[in-house]
Amino acid sequence: MIQIYEPSVGKNELQAVKKVFESKWIGKGKVVNTFITDISKKINTNTNNLITINSCTEGLFQSLDLYGISEGDEVILPSVSWVGTGNAIVSKKAKPVFCDVDKRTLNVNAQTIEDKITNKTKAVIILHYAGVPCEINDIVDLCRQYNIKLIEDNANSLFSKYNKQNTGTFGDMGIWSFDAMKIMTTGDGGLVYCRDVNDIKKLDKMIYLGWDSSSSSKSIESKWWQYDVLVPGRRSIMNDIQAAIGVEQLKRVDSFLKTRKNIHKKYTLELSKLDWLDTPKETKHTSSYYMYHIQTKESDDRDKLARHLRKNNIYTAFRYYPLHKINFYDSDEVLPNTDYVENHTLCIPLHQNLTDNEVTKIINTIKDFKK
Ligand SMILES: *Cc1c(COP(=O)(O)O)cnc(C)c1O
Repeated sequence: MIQIYEPSVGKNELQAVKKVFESKWIGKGKVVNTFITDISKKINTNTNNLITINSCTEGLFQSLDLYGISEGDEVILPSVSWVGTGNAIVSKKAKPVFCDVDKRTLNVNAQTIEDKITNKTKAVIILHYAGVPCEINDIVDLCRQYNIKLIEDNANSLFSKYNKQNTGTFGDMGIWSFDAMKIMTTGDGGLVYCRDVNDIKKLDKMIYLGWDSSSSSKSIESKWWQYDVLVPGRRSIMNDIQAAIGVEQLKRVDSFLKTRKNIHKKYTLELSKLDWLDTPKETKHTSSYYMYHIQTKESDDRDKLARHLRKNNIYTAFRYYPLHKINFYDSDEVLPNTDYVENHTLCIPLHQNLTDNEVTKIINTIKDFKK
């Protein structure tokens, strides 16, 4: 089976993990600091504005804690969004307010968000779908105008850029994912950017038990095991084993991105010749080429095409199944573009391990669907 996403981890990562084992310190330590320093250079951001975390989902939960989102508050998010984002909002007893997306890019824009703003709106959580940046400046302006927190789910858009600035650094907070399905991985893990350095200081406590590090003394004259707690924190840190994998992945990630870009180009070159489907629009900004989504013109064709590909050992899926359709969220939003997207879109394999032969097979199998 040709997989839709696939990690590239090998001997460099193993060697780095071996070193961590041999150091006898496998918890959060020096290697995490190295990882933060290395990635801060890649996204052109001060290390003081960054903190590692155990997953992007946990980062989303933490963001709502940090901004004090609570019962009765509303948080706007695209319906085509990560289910963990919906869960994070509901877990605070706040209301997720789902907004529509662009029919082709599956991204939100300032208008679709503004339509949903009420005096209860406290935050907006956006996603740069497939790695293509949203028109983020408009969204930043809108959120400032209404005094609403802007959180960027940056899980799809590792090193994507809007006007040369990395996505994830436009809002009040941005969150990256390094889970096993992402462009680069640490097994599981994430990174948080906060515009306000004080928010990073707060998160540092919130993701480690609320422990007040200044409350305990190291002095041999003291009871050095005493401590105080500032907030009812959880334990959501990244460790040195994960960070060691991340440091190695960062050295290779430019080549991953290049390969993905080439496959993306080849797909568009070949598949745009087919009159029964739409290929994704090119962006004038920088994509990280996380997903490649085609859209059949007939809604009837999408499921049939997915089955045809799977019978030929090519795995595809539609990401992300609209949250407003999930019973649990009990939403009565009417979102016509999202409905279109749900019935026409299919994400086909895109990752750096695909061989030329596999890419050709995928293209030909799609062409064969309507011959
Ligand atoms: C993978 C993903 C996440 C969650 O990341 P984890 O690190 O697995 O928690 C969030 N949002 C989007 C869009 C994702 O694709």
